[in-house]
Amino acid sequence: MFGKMKDYLVKELQDLKDQNLYKYERIIESPQSAEVLVKGKKVLNFCANNYLGLSSNPELIEAAHKEIDHRGYGLSSVRFICGTQDIHKELEKKLAEFLGMEDAILFSSCFDANGAAFEPLFTHDDAIITDALNHASIIDGIRLCKAQRWVYKHSDMRDVEEQDPSTGKNLKGLERCLKEAVAANCRFKVIATDSVFSMDGDIAKLRDICDLADKYDALVMIDESHSSGFMGKHGRGTHEYYDVMDRVDIITTTFGKALGGASGGCIASHKPIVDWMRNKARPYLFSNTVPPSVVGATLKCLEILTKTTALRDKLEANTKRFRKEMTEAGFDIIPGEHPITPIMFGKYENCSELAVKFANRMLEEGVYVTPFSYPVVPKGKDRIRVQISASHSDENLTTAIEAFKKIGRELNMIK
Ligand SMILES: *Cc1c(COP(=O)(O)O)cnc(C)c1O
Repeated sequence: MFGKMKDYLVKELQDLKDQNLYKYERIIESPQSAEVLVKGKKVLNFCANNYLGLSSNPELIEAAHKEIDHRGYGLSSVRFICGTQDIHKELEKKLAEFLGMEDAILFSSCFDANGAAFEPLFTHDDAIITDALNHASIIDGIRLCKAQRWVYKHSDMRDVEEQDPSTGKNLKGLERCLKEAVAANCRFKVIATDSVFSMDGDIAKLRDICDLADKYDALVMIDESHSSGFMGKHGRGTHEYYDVMDRVDIITTTFGKALGGASGGCIASHKPIVDWMRNKARPYLFSNTVPPSVVGATLKCLEILTKTTALRDKLEANTKRFRKEMTEAGFDIIPGEHPITPIMFGKYENCSELAVKFANRMLEEGVYVTPFSYPVVPKGKDRIRVQISASHSDENLTTAIEAFKKIGRELNMIK
C-alpha cells in the first residue's frame, strides 16, 4: 500500500530538484587517486578525503590481498561471538599506540563509533556539551543517550550568552555551558567536538578546551576524522598538533579518510572506557566485525605512517603552496593550515550560481572540485571546497591553480 507515500515522495523529490538540493552522484570509472576518470575523461581530483594519497596505495592493496588470502573475505559474525581474529586485536593495539591512548575498539565506521560513544557512558544525571557545528554522527550519537545537553556556539570558549542577530536565538559560549552544567549538579560532564570542521577546515581550540575541562572537571571527546594520520608533527592528530596528547579522554576516528580511505573506525580511550564499550556499545555488539582485508590494510597504513612522516610532510607543503598562491591570486580563502581549503564566493553577486558555474568550468579544464551552497553552508557562505592531498604532484597543483586563475578572470572574480 505504497500509493499515498509514493505521491508524497515523488513531490518532495521534485521539490528538492527544483531547489537544487537533490543529491546527484558523480560516477568515477577508476580507482580513487589524484587523477580519476569521469565520463571517460581524466580529471584531477581536488575533492576527496584522500589526504595522504593512500586510497590506492600498492602496499595497502597488497596487505588487503594478503589478508583475504590468509584470513578470508568475511567472518559472518559480530566480534564477541566468533568475529575476532588475531589481526583485529593487533589493529586495536596499534591504533592505541599511534593515537597515544591506552586502548582502542573497532567499529564498522566512525559514524558507528560516534553512535556508540555516548549512550553507554552518559545518562540523565550527566551533561554533554557539544559544539554547534559538530558532525551529524556526533549529533546522532548524543541523541541516542539520555544525558542533558548544552550546545555551545561554534568554537566560542567564553563565559557569555548572546543573542544571534540573524536568528534571534540565544547562543552560549563553552565556559557558560560548563558553569550551567556544574550548577545543575551533573555527575559526569563531557565536552564533545570535531577536532577539524569539514566545511571551513578550521581546527577546534583544543588547548583551551582541555584547560576548561580541567577547570570544570569535564572529560574531553574529539572526533579526529579529518586529522588522524597528518595533523601534528608525526601525524598523530590534533592532540599532537596542540601538544595535549595526554589530556584528551575519548578519540573517535575513521579509516575512511587519510588512513587508507576504505571504511571502518574506532574509539580510542582509557582502558576502562574501552572495556565498557566492549560490553555495552550497541554498534559493536550488534553489527558485524570489520573485514580482514580492511584490518590488514589499516595495519599496513599505520606501519607506514609510524616509519616515516614523508606523506604528512608532503601534504603540509602542498597545502601551504596552494593556500599561498591562491591567496596571492586574489581569491577569498578562509585562512588556516588544514588541507581543506574553502574558496569563498559570498562577496560576489549571485554567489550560489557563480560557485556552481565555476566548478563546472573547472571540470571542463580537467579539475574536479565541488561547490557547496545553502543549506549545507549558511546563506552567503557559498564556496568551492578544495581538498589537498599528498598525492598531488607539483605539476598537479600548478594545473589546478592555473585553472582557478583562468576561470577567476573569466568570471571577473580576480584581476
Ligand atoms: C567523515 C566523518 C565521519 C564519518 O566517518 P565514516 O567512517 O565514514 O562513518 C564522522 N565524523 C566526522 C567528523 C567525519 O568527518
